[in-house]
Amino acid sequence: MRCAIAVFALGDAAGLPISKTGAAIRKQAPVLVQNLLDVMESKTPSMEYIGYTSCPLVTGYGKLVLAEFDYNNNPIETFPFDQSKERWSMYKLKKQVLPRMYWNAILRGMA
Ligand SMILES: Cc1cc2nc3c(=O)[nH]c(=O)nc-3n(C[C@H](O)[C@H](O)[C@H](O)COP(=O)(O)OP(=O)(O)OC[C@H]3O[C@@H](n4cnc5c(N)ncnc54)[C@H](O)[C@@H]3O)c2cc1C
Repeated sequence: MRCAIAVFALGDAAGLPISKTGAAIRKQAPVLVQNLLDVMESKTPSMEYIGYTSCPLVTGYGKLVLAEFDYNNNPIETFPFDQSKERWSMYKLKKQVLPRMYWNAILRGMA
């Protein structure tokens, strides 16, 4: 007798071949939820996670490279400028904006 079992995982424990980050979990969570709902309704999982992750790399005093990429290391940049350059604005984003976004929006499932 064959038995189909679906296993769902996200976050660091999922062991995906990506940099393990909270930013990755933010993209994984909606995919997992939708696919779980699909399977519970005997449907084929409808969403795909393409391996998005993000590494805010502090490169100096007040300088940061916001690296965002997928499973194949293709850049998936959020902002309309070259994020591979060190920027003060990205440093401020990491230092002041992301913590507020994390506590006020991401943890509440609003971002
Ligand atoms: C120094 C550092 C800096 C980072 N900076 C960033 C960043 O700038 N941006 C970013 O997006 N990500 C960053 N990350 C990564 C991010 O913190 C992790 O990817 C994220 O927290 C993983 O979340 P998780 O829920 O999968 O696992 P965790 O946050 O590790 O949660 C797992 C939980 O399970 C608990 N646990 C373990 N074993 C058991 C058990 N047997 N029974 C019950 N509970 C158990 C643990 O205590 C823990 O609370 C950073 C990580 C580190 C270490």
